Amino acid sequence: MFEVSNQPPPLEPYSLFASDIVLREAVKRERAGWAEDGLSALGAKLGKPETIQLGFDANKYTPTLRTLDRYGHRLDEVDYHPAWHALMGIALRAGLHSSPWADPKPGAHVARAAGTYMLNQIESGVYCPLAMTYGSVPSLRFAPAIAAEWLPKIFGRHYDRRFRPAKEKTSVLIGMGMTENQGGSDLRTNSTRAEPAGDGSFRLHGHKWFLSVPMCDAFLVLAQSAKGLSCFLLPRWTPDGERNGLQILRLKDKLGNRSNASSEVEFDGAFAQLVGEEGRGVPTIIEMAGHTRLDCCIGSSSLMRQAVAQAVHHARHRTAFQRRLIDQPLMTNVLADLALECEAATVLSMRLARAYDESDEISTVFRRVVTPAGKFWICKRAPAVTLEAMEVLGGSGYIEESIMPRLYREAPVNSIWEGSGNVMCLDVLRAIERTPKAAEVLRHELGETGDARLKAFAERLQQRLRAADRNDESQARVLVRDLVLALQAALLIKHSPAAVADAFCASRLGGEGGGAFGALPRGLDLRALAERAAPLN
Ligand SMILES: Cc1cc2nc3c(=O)[nH]c(=O)nc-3n(C[C@H](O)[C@H](O)[C@H](O)COP(=O)(O)OP(=O)(O)OC[C@H]3O[C@@H](n4cnc5c(N)ncnc54)[C@H](O)[C@@H]3O)c2cc1C
Repeated sequence: MFEVSNQPPPLEPYSLFASDIVLREAVKRERAGWAEDGLSALGAKLGKPETIQLGFDANKYTPTLRTLDRYGHRLDEVDYHPAWHALMGIALRAGLHSSPWADPKPGAHVARAAGTYMLNQIESGVYCPLAMTYGSVPSLRFAPAIAAEWLPKIFGRHYDRRFRPAKEKTSVLIGMGMTENQGGSDLRTNSTRAEPAGDGSFRLHGHKWFLSVPMCDAFLVLAQSAKGLSCFLLPRWTPDGERNGLQILRLKDKLGNRSNASSEVEFDGAFAQLVGEEGRGVPTIIEMAGHTRLDCCIGSSSLMRQAVAQAVHHARHRTAFQRRLIDQPLMTNVLADLALECEAATVLSMRLARAYDESDEISTVFRRVVTPAGKFWICKRAPAVTLEAMEVLGGSGYIEESIMPRLYREAPVNSIWEGSGNVMCLDVLRAIERTPKAAEVLRHELGETGDARLKAFAERLQQRLRAADRNDESQARVLVRDLVLALQAALLIKHSPAAVADAFCASRLGGEGGGAFGALPRGLDLRALAERAAPLN
């Protein structure tokens, strides 16, 4: 038998909080310093070998659909591996599904963002129900009576896996049904019908082409009523304690996100209650989408963090050609570049999360413009980062026993769901055009860094934002990318070590973009960048 040598130790146990200096700085800076103890405990729990194993198990033993019972009665239930339930238990105990609403205070959305940032590194599938439940609250508040009934259960921290009517449970989860077969982004094509039942409730007939986490306790669903597209709450059980008319046709066979069930469903006269004004379904459910899009930014940033942490860890322990990989100049460049991308994504996501904590005009405008912008660019960067980080591990990175293939398969989904890339860019154009003070708020965010490179870049950007052809859709990706790069540069200049800000401005503001990682120019402190990303407790 050969002797095993020159292999890194597994990155476990470790604290996902203590070992992440960028996250710790962001939590403090964005006003969630009070949450450090809780985040520290959660980070340590997530980094234990047994918790890491739950992530592997939940993805290996994927959910299965039970359509009918042995006699042919409809069941429409999905079974999950115990690892899924264990991870959900950890998440709900930490309040990652609703804590900012249950216990609002300055920094509450930031603290939750930091928690989900860590959880998502260990297992991404569970993030989906957490994000949707979190996002559902502002939409549900359009219907005070429904909110009064459901919010106390949504705030519950004791995960209740049972498939029972909500009133019997200690906590509930909320999903979202917008996308139909004939059209997803273009919600006006929704064909599901809502008919008044005569008692104030509605009955829904139709289908949804994508409905994730079908074992959620209720869903916010769009359907056409007499006054147009409206938003409804559709529970899995009727008020009479019967299974509601939601039939799960099949589970999707997905590229990644495999621990999580996503389904195709039909509504057969399903009981539902109107949420918000009839005919104003999109403005009602868009409140939810804003929050889930924030979660896409956090989720993609955290996938990058896990990929970079694994890559730097590997390179610190593996030797090739008589040197540790991290000391090989070209590898130092690759790691530094990856770390840079991850830090830029993380600082912007956490800054954005703070905008969700605040209700002043600047925060409102910032949320409106930067949520879709960040979702576009940060989510686009995650597949590239996870791919390059995988290569740092050499052949071992391609093997399922490492987490890298799972990160790589997961990476594209945040870009696709909750509004795909182009749709996000068009939304940014709309937001800038229609939001009074958008230009002023962006100028304020980008100003006063004293950095000449950013000043020149931001001035060119402002000119494009004022130009007659600013709404040219064919150029929207370029504009949104540059907007995000400018915001990231401003944050790094203000808050990160000079080595980080220098490298970012030198490599990201010159317009090269899009090439392979590891092309940072000479004269930068690349070693400092790579070391900063090392997951050291
Ligand atoms: C794993 C997974 C889980 C999901 N879970 C849910 C769920 O729980 N609930 C739910 O409602 N949906 C869910 N979705 C659906 C998802 O939100 C949609 O797939 C997504 O919004 C895109 O809609 P679509 O698939 O109909 O694509 P389309 O709307 O057909 O878009 C296809 C492409 O065209 C682009 N495009 C669209 N319009 C324009 C335009 N005007 N100009 C330029 N380009 C354009 C889009 O950006 C996209 O790249 C899920 C999807 C996935 C992959």
